[in-house]
Amino acid sequence: MSVRDKLKALRESYIKTLPAKLNDVNNIYSKIKDACHSDADMANLHRLVHSIAGTSASFGFKEIADNARQFEQLLKGIIENNKPIDFTALAEIREYIVLLEHHINNTKIVDADAVKSHAVLSAHSSDENSVKKVFLVEDDPHLLQTLESQISHFGYKVMPFDNIDDFKMAALKEPPDVIVMDIIFKEGEVAGIEAVSEMQRYFQKRIPVVFISARSDIFARIEAVQAGGEAYLTKPVKIDSLIERLDILIARKEIKPYRILIIDDEVELAQYYAAILEEGGMDTKILNNPLNAFDALSEFNPDLILMDKYMPQYNGDILAKAIRQMDDYFSIPIVFLSTETDIDKQMNAMRMGGDDFLAKPVNPEILISSVSIRADRMRIIRSFMGKDSLTGLLNHTMIKEGLDAAIDRARRQKGVMAFAMIDIDKFKSVNDTYGHLIGDRVIVSLSGLLQHRLRRTDIVGRYGGEEFAIVFSDTDVDNAMRILDEIRTAFSKIKHQANGSEFYCTFSAGIAGYPAYDNAVDICSAADKALYEAKHSGRNKVIKASEVEWKS
Ligand code: GH3
Ligand code: MG
Ligand code: MG
Repeated sequence: MSVRDKLKALRESYIKTLPAKLNDVNNIYSKIKDACHSDADMANLHRLVHSIAGTSASFGFKEIADNARQFEQLLKGIIENNKPIDFTALAEIREYIVLLEHHINNTKIVDADAVKSHAVLSAHSSDENSVKKVFLVEDDPHLLQTLESQISHFGYKVMPFDNIDDFKMAALKEPPDVIVMDIIFKEGEVAGIEAVSEMQRYFQKRIPVVFISARSDIFARIEAVQAGGEAYLTKPVKIDSLIERLDILIARKEIKPYRILIIDDEVELAQYYAAILEEGGMDTKILNNPLNAFDALSEFNPDLILMDKYMPQYNGDILAKAIRQMDDYFSIPIVFLSTETDIDKQMNAMRMGGDDFLAKPVNPEILISSVSIRADRMRIIRSFMGKDSLTGLLNHTMIKEGLDAAIDRARRQKGVMAFAMIDIDKFKSVNDTYGHLIGDRVIVSLSGLLQHRLRRTDIVGRYGGEEFAIVFSDTDVDNAMRILDEIRTAFSKIKHQANGSEFYCTFSAGIAGYPAYDNAVDICSAADKALYEAKHSGRNKVIKASEVEWKS
């Protein structure tokens, strides 16, 4: 079913729910007329009318929505002023109900709005698959050449320019998919940024730019953002980070769809949002009862929660606060949907832990963009949280996740994998002799060596202090052993400098793998035992788990 048909079907099914809602309204009206209603009845009536106003507006039923909105204002006045309902008020209520009934019975399903949203939605899918073109502008000829060859290795078509004028000429002829731009040129201290700003005006769509620069001051960074800079890397440029940014920017890297949990007691409305977000490439799960929120969170593990502010059992702001009190969801983005126009109430919901407020009716394009921007930022924050701050390597938690994934994959594909634990030898004496800062530098140098020597598919992490771990996918224990032993030799030859003196370091490692061990716990403990064995048989060596077993 196309999204257009889907939205049309949702509008039709929503309209069919309205007579029942009107019936509820009429029942409460009867009580009011007989003067036997309670405060709760008034509150229910208000909520009913409020939701008819909001949802009808979202589905594009303007007359119903406008009428319900005015009706809602009347009820709100009565409730807030605690007024007894006199004859005039009763007549007014009656009049709104009659009007509402009239509009509901006379509403035709024209799918003008659905068509409109469809036009917006199809702009989001892209089918380009060709080799992406990178314009690389850098006036240092050596760096230009290095970057050109490196980026090309990763399957991009690179056009190198050593000056701004040539870049401009080429960009006018045929814009690239992405620009990698230096900042300081002979024309000026921010010449690279100015050139990009100027060219953006000629391009039909904004071209993503990665700036690379020796400057890292706030002015350069701000101007870079204004010129469309999506990333800013300081020199010396780490090729891995550059490629990662390029892959993300032009979506070559497979980005897993964002998972959005929609909490709204109104079934049709929730389905309507889900249809829009799914068309925008996201996965959704709908929850109509907020009481099931905790289960849904742990099962679905959403990147973002889209939540109605008014629900019968619990208000969205209370629920948001409760969710945020759980450690795992402390930072999950929560976006409220509400017909709320009162700024005080909006602020209150924000204080309770909401990140944004989208006013109903929500335009599909705005819904998709505000949800995906926030989900994206959350993904980036999560990826930082998974990295160790000294080395930029994955942290303990992420390594464990990577280990689990690699074992699963090996099991599924009847393949192999290996896991290594590394510990620097006599590191305490490095600290004691040269100081902690020099010690840190040794850690960073080993981290750099590991990143450099291992394949991109291998996962390298810092396991703890001077301990590292590697997950080798599709590699058996013997091959992992050979690779790691080469790295061990290389590391032992690195000369470390400390205030005039020089010294060398070594490490010991233990390796275990699948299928000899078939789960993460066993693999870890076998690798750990092997490492212990390496330490106790003289250090500066790599030992695999089977040897340990054979010996004991
Ligand atoms: P071996 O592993 O060979 O048995 O000896 P070791 O001296 O390395 O032993 P141990 O694992 O007991 O000591 C590790 C030391 O590493 C202790 C701690 O002070 C130091 N260390 C841990 N993390 C860091 C860090 O981030 N930076 C620095 N400079 N030192 C660290
Ligand atoms: Mg240690
Ligand atoms: Mg050690």
